[in-house]
Amino acid sequence: MTAPRLEINLQKIQHNATVLVRRLARKGIAVSGVTKATLGCPRIASAMLKGGVQQLADSRIENIEAMRRANVDAEMLLIRSPMLSQADRVVAAADVSFNTELEVIAELSRAAKRLGRHHGIVLMVELGDLREGVMPCDVENTVASILRCSNIALIGIGANLGCRSGIAPDARNMGELSAITTALEAKFGISLETVSGGNSSNMTWALNASGIGRVNNLRLGEAILLGNDPHQSTPVPGLHTDAIILVAEVIEMKSKPATPWGDVGHIPFPKSHAPALRETVSQAILAIGHQDVDPAGLRPSRAITVLSASSDHLIVDAAGTDMAPGTEVSFGLDYRALLRAMTSPYVAKVMLSNGNRIGGHRTVGPHARSTSH
Ligand SMILES: *Cc1c(COP(=O)(O)O)cnc(C)c1O
Repeated sequence: MTAPRLEINLQKIQHNATVLVRRLARKGIAVSGVTKATLGCPRIASAMLKGGVQQLADSRIENIEAMRRANVDAEMLLIRSPMLSQADRVVAAADVSFNTELEVIAELSRAAKRLGRHHGIVLMVELGDLREGVMPCDVENTVASILRCSNIALIGIGANLGCRSGIAPDARNMGELSAITTALEAKFGISLETVSGGNSSNMTWALNASGIGRVNNLRLGEAILLGNDPHQSTPVPGLHTDAIILVAEVIEMKSKPATPWGDVGHIPFPKSHAPALRETVSQAILAIGHQDVDPAGLRPSRAITVLSASSDHLIVDAAGTDMAPGTEVSFGLDYRALLRAMTSPYVAKVMLSNGNRIGGHRTVGPHARSTSH
């Protein structure tokens, strides 16, 4: 089979979605399935939908357009603030976008008017992680202006924590989001149907908090795709952590000195592992590198150690195992490794459904090109 490749088990992704949707439903929380790490792959999106996610969410309009073209039938949310220059595309392809800038919202309204429709807005509020969001003191004025936009429907408010500064959701910041919701409804006589509390790092909070207030939506990507809770960096009980694995192929296997020789200059990619305390290492080279994956995010399935990597080579300590050229090695991935592998056109994406391969060797996403032979 072609290598390197991601093997994507659609049933496992569906299972993860089903379990998370069911657990959060008990708390009154609906799940938006986040597809951005998959470049908006229609088959993965469909697996999430079969698992019961209420909408699909992506940070890039290109991915939403790709899912529309593939006739994925769902409400679609753009969860990164739209670029002003993309307002027309956003209104044409996304039902709802997450926003923080009035200038952009006004342009979305004009674009929606031209298309004879209304565009939904979730206003993002800054709660301490210092990525996107209107400062809490500015929310009321911003909403007053949004409500004057003729072709905009304010459907809710939201927040994002964890991604820039690692700030955790807690009673204080999530309580503030609920309080802001209730205050806005009272002040403007509106009802905000969506209160979107955050991403996968909110899950543990949502499942364990004594009260979750008004929060009724979470946007989950990593938890569904990798079965991982990014806030704790631990597997979520009951979920598959191997729904997506990476397979790479050995191109060289030699016993070599553990220590390099010659004058040492600049190292383009810093070492990911300390040199072995041995004279020789049975080292294997796999045909994959920084261009395709974040080597630090790889978890080998066998007892080998990743020593270092360059653009196109991954060097591993074979630890006495037989890794002749042509040997395939599989790895689990963290989110950063997954993101890069999904985005690399050199990594084939192989979909597995009920143990059968579907969809050939083709890469996925807006820049898809065939890598089949
Ligand atoms: C990426 C993203 C998510 C999903 O994050 P995961 O950690 O993959 O669940 C949710 N919301 C926003 C705004 C995002 O950018």
